[in-house]
Amino acid sequence: MTVTETDHCDFGGKIMVLDYGDRVIMPGLVDIHVHLNEPGREDWEGLTSGTRAAAAGGITTVVDMPLNSFPVTTDVKSLHQKVEATKGKLSIDIGFWGGLVPANAENSTALDELLKAGVLGLKSFMCPSGINDFPQTNSQHIKAALPVLAKHKRPLLVHAELPQTISSEDSPSTHATEEPLRLEDPRAYETYLKSRPHSWENAAIRQLIEVGESTKKGREAEGASIHIVHLADANSLSIIQDAKSRGINLTVETCTHYLTFAAEEIPDGDTRFKCAPPIRNAKNRQLLWKALMDGTIDSLSSDHSPAPPQMKLFDEGDFMRAWGGISSLQFGPLATWTYGKQRGITLNHLVRWWSTRPVELAGLNLKGSLEVGRDADIVVWTPNESTKVDDEKKIYHKHKATPFFNMTLDGRVDFTFVRGQLVFSQGTFSDRPCGKPILV
Ligand SMILES: [Zn+2]
Repeated sequence: MTVTETDHCDFGGKIMVLDYGDRVIMPGLVDIHVHLNEPGREDWEGLTSGTRAAAAGGITTVVDMPLNSFPVTTDVKSLHQKVEATKGKLSIDIGFWGGLVPANAENSTALDELLKAGVLGLKSFMCPSGINDFPQTNSQHIKAALPVLAKHKRPLLVHAELPQTISSEDSPSTHATEEPLRLEDPRAYETYLKSRPHSWENAAIRQLIEVGESTKKGREAEGASIHIVHLADANSLSIIQDAKSRGINLTVETCTHYLTFAAEEIPDGDTRFKCAPPIRNAKNRQLLWKALMDGTIDSLSSDHSPAPPQMKLFDEGDFMRAWGGISSLQFGPLATWTYGKQRGITLNHLVRWWSTRPVELAGLNLKGSLEVGRDADIVVWTPNESTKVDDEKKIYHKHKATPFFNMTLDGRVDFTFVRGQLVFSQGTFSDRPCGKPILV
């Protein structure tokens, strides 16, 4: 079946019946953490290629991060520029996170305007973001922003790593300062891992929980929530669990790559695997799966953050200098299914982690469920088939380098519908991109 004019919407007054046999029909998936980098850095990804890749992966809505586009989305003007850039390019729907940076953090009017203009919430970093025009915030900035977010009932998403002096405990085979890391092999994954120890995540999360006290019932930021993006460190799960049980409005996501890969399996020099926080060991990975199953971790995302090959330094394989970001948008849900199945997950888990919970977090009330009154965003797929990621022509990201290359994933995405319109059909895309920007 190819995408034709009649598949879209005009059935000449007749009801068109599509029989998908034994395939699974479920709500389109929602990836609330992607970097499509347009406008400004279309050479890194782009709205056309990014939303096509998402559609091919069964994803019907993405929420784009306020960086690494240029300009970054930290005010109303830059949000309008981003919305303008989407025209005629979207295969699926897209919402936007605004950026919380020192320049707007203590200016409640500026934040209020940005939220009123339609961003779904704000995102900030507790460590350098890698992009100079998106500086990091401290806990005071976060504290100041929460009451504004509370007024709009929107979340603050936080990259939770707080740089600490590298201690001998973090890095037992080396010394007590950062200095020796410079002498270690930059191609070794272990060197990179030591440079961003789990204590960074743990310290950031402790601070966030402290600040998050204000989101409790009856406190000044009731209605706001804090969402920890891309949790990699299983050591922080117990304090997260405790904070949630004490009524702090806290949610957590982890990413497909933390559930798929493990530090000990990453070849030295293979910077496709570089991301921050880093992928940790297999034991940590198992604990993340456990936390996902028991609800301590709420949802999944890809954190698709590609860059041109020259920035990944594939020739040198220098983990310390290569761009940190994994390219994965198209493969997140199938990878979850592949590795989750081995751990007993069901289709309901997949829907909860990739649709229901992300939709609740982002306030995307028309998405995430097949019911009257919601958008007809649908993925039709075959769980018992498989997808071999070995053909670059079938990787729809702008850049083809991804750690999922040469893997065989369980499941095959066959058809993707956005608001009732067929946008992806067995390797073919609609030539009439019907995705829309979502402003709230
Ligand atoms: Zn990210």
